[in-house]
Amino acid sequence: MSQDTEHVKCLIIGSGPAGYTAAIYASRADLKPVMYTGMLAGGQLTQTTDVENFPGYPDGIMGPEMMEDFRKQAERLGTDIRFGYVSSVDFSSLPHKVVVDESRTILADTVIISTGASAKWLGLESEQKYSGFGVSACAVCDGFFFKGEDVAIVGAGDTAAEEATYLAKLARKVYMIVRRDEFRASKAMMHRVLNTANIEILYNTDTTEILGDGQSVNGVKVCNNVTNETTVLDVTGFFVAIGHKPNTDIFRGVIHMDETGYILTRPGSTETNVEGVFCCGDAQDHIYRQAVTAAGTGCMAAIDAERYLAAKEHVVTA
Ligand code: NDP
Repeated sequence: MSQDTEHVKCLIIGSGPAGYTAAIYASRADLKPVMYTGMLAGGQLTQTTDVENFPGYPDGIMGPEMMEDFRKQAERLGTDIRFGYVSSVDFSSLPHKVVVDESRTILADTVIISTGASAKWLGLESEQKYSGFGVSACAVCDGFFFKGEDVAIVGAGDTAAEEATYLAKLARKVYMIVRRDEFRASKAMMHRVLNTANIEILYNTDTTEILGDGQSVNGVKVCNNVTNETTVLDVTGFFVAIGHKPNTDIFRGVIHMDETGYILTRPGSTETNVEGVFCCGDAQDHIYRQAVTAAGTGCMAAIDAERYLAAKEHVVTA
């Protein structure tokens, strides 16, 4: 084997709550896991501020700090954590071949994919400026901070509809910014929005700027794309719900996924259609997308990998 090739029992790709939890369980099962973190070590939570809904932190915790705790725990239990980006995979034979940083080849008996997803953003400079300071892509995570206040949400799909009704229970008023004259969301979800008294829908409306005092959001500038009329919404929170993109491009054509790129797993398991390859977290979940559910499936993936290897060993030695 060349210097740039190495054989491992368990390779974990991605370092969010799913990946680190898989690492913790795989380490304790003596799979000697090697993890490649990806470019955003720690995943989406490193881009958030307060996390108040992860059990075990009674006073809440900052997202980056929580991921640092996950990392330390995985490392203490023996995971070999490396900064690196998987550039290509070949799952056509066993062991699986994974190339890191276009140079190093890992031969892996099992692969756990935990590459997560990325929220789509509008792409406004001001949106980036106030991200985590009034701008959020997760109503379930951050809605609580706007109790009794006025907020806005952009999007018109099922996620936006669901999050708008969730926010309406906490906020005084929710402006829903819809770029066309109709929703994309299912009829049932739309019905819920239309029947919620404190949601005001602004059709044919584009978001042009997030306003703030340098510290936090205090308004959103919107423009009606039919009349060209510009208005400022007096809100303290701005939620973006225009979809997510799973970080699964490198697995396209290699593993079964749905039309939007979410990797398909067997129900009740983390098994993919490829032997020895398991998937957990947001790369396979477009419904819950929570740190705690990602962690739960990370645990499942490590257990599935361990059982797969144990069953194989049993066949070989029996
Ligand atoms: P979708 O892709 O379905 O919807 C995205 C929405 O964002 C669309 O209304 C789109 O507008 C709007 N949008 C996109 N870009 C912009 C932009 N730049 N400015 C303004 N608006 C924009 O994503 P979702 O996350 O809503 O849903 C993803 C999948 O998950 C869907 O299949 C959905 O059904 C499913 N889902 C199911 C749920 C459930 O069953 N409970 C809950 C949540 C999601 P336009 O319509 O004009 O293109």
